[in-house]
Amino acid sequence: MPTTRDYYEILSVERTASGDEIKRSYRRLAMKFHPDRNPGDAEAESKFKEAAEAYEVLSDNEKRARFDKHGHAGLRQTPGHDFRNMHVQDIFSMFNDIFGGGAGGGGAGGAASGRRGPARGFDLETEVEVTLEEVLKGCEREVEFKRLDVCRTCTGSGAKPGIVPIKCPTCGGHGQVQQTGLGGMFRMVTTCPNCRGRRTVITEHCPDCRGHGRVSAKRTLTVRIPAGISDGQVVRLQGEGEPTPPEVSPAGEGPRGDLHVVVRVRTHDDFERNDDDLVMVASVAFPQLALGCQLEVRGLEGPATIEIPAGTQHGAHFRISQRGLPNLRSRDRGDLIVFVQVVVPKRLSAEQRTLLAEYARTEKVDVAAEAPSIFKKIKRKMKGT
Ligand code: ZN
Repeated sequence: MPTTRDYYEILSVERTASGDEIKRSYRRLAMKFHPDRNPGDAEAESKFKEAAEAYEVLSDNEKRARFDKHGHAGLRQTPGHDFRNMHVQDIFSMFNDIFGGGAGGGGAGGAASGRRGPARGFDLETEVEVTLEEVLKGCEREVEFKRLDVCRTCTGSGAKPGIVPIKCPTCGGHGQVQQTGLGGMFRMVTTCPNCRGRRTVITEHCPDCRGHGRVSAKRTLTVRIPAGISDGQVVRLQGEGEPTPPEVSPAGEGPRGDLHVVVRVRTHDDFERNDDDLVMVASVAFPQLALGCQLEVRGLEGPATIEIPAGTQHGAHFRISQRGLPNLRSRDRGDLIVFVQVVVPKRLSAEQRTLLAEYARTEKVDVAAEAPSIFKKIKRKMKGT
């Protein structure tokens, strides 16, 4: 039976998510719940299949639109894939393109994919978080991730040392079987359920990998994060993904997949990023703006000075050239943009109060003349123009 859960919830994406976001989220979940990584875990397998079902609908514009409109009821008439009864390997073959093209390439139907040579292993994905200060200079980060490696005990065959794999009796060593449905109305070629496409079976399993030919291993790598990187950009480490799947090459002879390190840039309390520019707000007392001053601000990499001319208004901004972030490609520096805001003191000393009262008596600003222009601004803002 198909799932009754919300597909967006399963893939943990927003209802407005782009095709790319949906693909990325599915790939992540498929890797996380892959049965090879969670041997004997029925819940993981069930989640793996649920994610495939959600992806199948949300990656298809027409099915997605029907699901958006009518929910699961909108898909009742669609002959969908019953993922619950499918082999994991077949699900991988279905969505071959998004897993780096690793699975299914070596089977008898491989010609259809048009790929030549040994298929690549799967790509993996991990995330690192960096600060804005690290974006400024670039940094190195240690990442620890789990990946499958070829089992050393059996060099990937899955057989107990000394045991020779035999030709699969179910498929006769083809890796695929023909199934007939509806009383012989149609025939379908599927991956052999006995050997799961490996063409051979093992009478005694390797004790270290329990016949999978692959073992899960932790790996730690140092990743160089370049200066100027943006949130969501990916650093790709070639050949740090998984080995070729055992169905394609038991010894993992094809090229390994890649590791994609997704960089997340943490938001900063004092700076907002605008491409390569940094935007900040500096608090200034009213007399400093009225009289003009040299204002020292704390930029991301230390103090910088701005010349504030007399009569500067609240909300004015100043640009300090080349004190922003470096551009990832050109290395040119962006600017630091400083907005000034007036701070009204909450407490005054007796002397300040006297001076301010004295000043107020001499003030010539015509409040009535200023008011209409402010009202115009407010009205414009309320209309949203
Ligand atoms: Zn083994």
